[in-house]
Amino acid sequence: MRKPIIAGNWKMNKNAAECRELVKELLPKVKDAKCDVVICVPFTDIALAAELTKGSNVKVGAQNIAWADSGAFTGEISAAMLKEAGAEYVIIGHSERRAYFGETDKSVNARLVQAIKCGFKPIVCVGETLDEREGGKTETVCKTQVVGAFDGIDAGAAKDVVIAYEPVWAIGTGKTATDEQANETIGYIRSVVEELYGKTVADAIRIQYGGSMNAKNAAGLMAQPEIDGGLIGGASLKAEDFSIVVAAAK
Ligand code: PEP
Repeated sequence: MRKPIIAGNWKMNKNAAECRELVKELLPKVKDAKCDVVICVPFTDIALAAELTKGSNVKVGAQNIAWADSGAFTGEISAAMLKEAGAEYVIIGHSERRAYFGETDKSVNARLVQAIKCGFKPIVCVGETLDEREGGKTETVCKTQVVGAFDGIDAGAAKDVVIAYEPVWAIGTGKTATDEQANETIGYIRSVVEELYGKTVADAIRIQYGGSMNAKNAAGLMAQPEIDGGLIGGASLKAEDFSIVVAAAK
């Protein structure tokens, strides 16, 4: 049995005061969660979020990690810095990073290798654009991204990576993949993991859905057998909405 994981992606939202308010409201609402609960906050909120969630069932994540240990990488943040601030998880290869900041399968792989080496719990995002889905390329795109991300990573490490299947056309658009679409593509991604690492890893690895998942549609998505949780953007910014999504993950 795979334990579901619900992760909030706050993106570039919430200053320190807003972080404090949201975390304080969230903690009592999710304290009995049956799933893993993570909030991936802006870098500047990590230390505060880690302090506020200490001793609770809510874990803190970052939204990116540099592939190098240190050095001349302006604008990047190192594993050691994230660890010192209190991050346990890290999102890698989000489609917004791929679309706006030139992230490639190669850089996603380099960041994933570094995250694993430094003991983080990575959440690696893959997913097709609308053109790619309409062009019948969903499986090819997802396969290329998964194979690229996991290049050189052994089975022991791979099984603990979380994959987030996030169709780009569903992110922040209010358009959710249907329960069946999400389940089918996640099932396909699991088959790619099986090709790479065999059945034991494929059965163990957790694959989330992400893309306009919210308080209304979470129960339907979570009822699908292949879906092991969600990566939640907009709906993670309100404690009430996020806690309903968390409650749907049993
Ligand atoms: C995301 O940022 O990963 C995401 C899924 O966003 P939203 O839930 O807002 O579509």
